[in-house]
Amino acid sequence: MLRGKAALVTGSTSGIGLGIARALAGQGCAVMLNGFGEPAEIETIRETLAQEHDVPVSYSDADLSQPDDIAALVAMTADQLGGLDILVNNAGIQHTAPVTDFPADIWEMIIAIMLTGAFHAIQHALPHMQEKGWGRIVNTSSVHGLVASVQKSAYVSAKHGIMGLTKTVALETAGQGITCNAINPGFVRTELVQAQIDDRAQKIGASVEEAARNMLSEKQPSLEFVTPEQIGALCVFLCSDAAAQITGVPIPIDGGWTAQ
Ligand code: NAD
Repeated sequence: MLRGKAALVTGSTSGIGLGIARALAGQGCAVMLNGFGEPAEIETIRETLAQEHDVPVSYSDADLSQPDDIAALVAMTADQLGGLDILVNNAGIQHTAPVTDFPADIWEMIIAIMLTGAFHAIQHALPHMQEKGWGRIVNTSSVHGLVASVQKSAYVSAKHGIMGLTKTVALETAGQGITCNAINPGFVRTELVQAQIDDRAQKIGASVEEAARNMLSEKQPSLEFVTPEQIGALCVFLCSDAAAQITGVPIPIDGGWTAQ
């Protein structure tokens, strides 16, 4: 379905971003991977994706907190993959602390990567989409783009912020063959969430699996984690023609979290 298209997925060396990159490659889409990690592991991911799906797959270690890196990342995607049709703003980090103790430098970093980074990526990517009269922007927001939780002031602010950016870009691109939407996942068991599960296990003196169940029972009525594969499939749907008139909306995929 996406053969001939090119996608940049930020933060795709693990977790949700990798799930999205796999799903897009599975539809024949060329993919630019981005993120940090062990170079040898990333090269294995890149090669496997390219071979399994017979698509071009490139990688860049651009730092999404650095505007110059983002400009270079978009240019590299267009050069190496022959365009940029799909942009998935997904790179992200987490830090938990009460607002009174929240380190100011970590606040700045979270906003820089998850909100300002998405702004720069969209600004550089849109001309490539406008040239072709087709484009898809998918922002990995979160349930925390819709509701809050304690100790996550920077994360919740960045994720609410990207909802505003999503709606504005949707309005500015309406009628141009381009859509801009947000995916709002509940808990997905990635490295980012595993760190929170491990902390909780220590705090409540429980096993890691008990802590995981305890965490789900507080927020996610299905009591099951959302998977990167499910989010990848949702992203593929948003890139389809069937979704051409869906724009400017949050799409929760959260086991009922935000229905409460
Ligand atoms: P993850 O830690 O597995 O992946 C994060 C990715 O971002 C990695 O590839 C990492 O290398 C990359 N990254 C981090 N800082 C970066 C930087 N400065 N520049 C470039 N890349 C950078 O975590 P994940 O859970 O897959 O998170 C992906 C996105 O999904 C994040 O935006 C996160 O907020 C969001 N999200 C996660 C959950 C969840 O429960 N895991 C729920 C809702 C939303």
